[in-house]
Amino acid sequence: MKIVSTIKEVRQEVANWRKEGLSVGFVPTMGYLHEGHQSLIKRAVEENDRVVVSVFVNPMQFGPTEDLDSYPRDLEADAKLCEATGAALIFHPEPEEMYTDGFCSFVDMNGLTKELCGKSRPIHFRGVCTVVSKLFHIVTPDRAYFGQKDAQQLAVIKRMVTDLNIPVEIIGCPIIREADGLAKSSRNTYLNPRERQAALILSKSIFMGRKLVEEGERSAAALIKAMTDLIETEPLAKIDYVEVVDFSTIEKTDTIQGETLVAIAVYIGKTRLIDNFIVTVS
Ligand code: AMP
Repeated sequence: MKIVSTIKEVRQEVANWRKEGLSVGFVPTMGYLHEGHQSLIKRAVEENDRVVVSVFVNPMQFGPTEDLDSYPRDLEADAKLCEATGAALIFHPEPEEMYTDGFCSFVDMNGLTKELCGKSRPIHFRGVCTVVSKLFHIVTPDRAYFGQKDAQQLAVIKRMVTDLNIPVEIIGCPIIREADGLAKSSRNTYLNPRERQAALILSKSIFMGRKLVEEGERSAAALIKAMTDLIETEPLAKIDYVEVVDFSTIEKTDTIQGETLVAIAVYIGKTRLIDNFIVTVS
């Protein structure tokens, strides 16, 4: 496995593979890799001849008061995980490599970004769409792998490649959790032991919400109330949102019908965590 930091080197590697007729899978990440990321890399290795993992904490998707500087980084450990999982190349650029002097072009979206994380993180998805489309142009993968953990991001990227005719297949992968239910996240490292315990309220409310839907609940308002009430039993939790939306449009829905995303964002102390489930109801 190689680690490269320039766009030129990525293009060269991929061009060599293409000459041999090999397929290319791609897993974009911000690093500090865990088993959630690893599940994406594993799937990419199964389905492609070569796999590229990008490790880039993208400044453009962080708001001015967010955790860009404190975001955890450990390239050495990331490289070990990627190598052990079968990736062929890590692309680890400096921000200056991605955003050269005078940079002023963006990819943005009118729909899908008004609700959920778009509300409290107004510039986030512009940063995500811009960097992911840049990475797609650099890596030119056949398939790219995204976690359902960031369900709105998955819907946004699917929409973006459709709208902009980017020739890549987007593959969504299930949420990987800790043994006690907490969705794995690089941000879990911010939690002190008391907060780590309190953070279980997210997955508890997700599991409870899913059960209610399985038992026949179809009212978004009733589901939101039940999940909100449960989260509010945890004194360290402060709700950002509990919402029910159509998964493909990310628009609010009153009734749970079709492919529906039930998503939450909750502050545990200063750490903002997200979780969700998707149900298809005919
Ligand atoms: P990040 O490094 O947080 O930008 O995440 C990179 C990719 O890994 C995204 O597609 C995430 O959705 C995915 N991911 C992060 N955590 C998990 C998880 N617990 N389960 C599945 N996918 C995940």
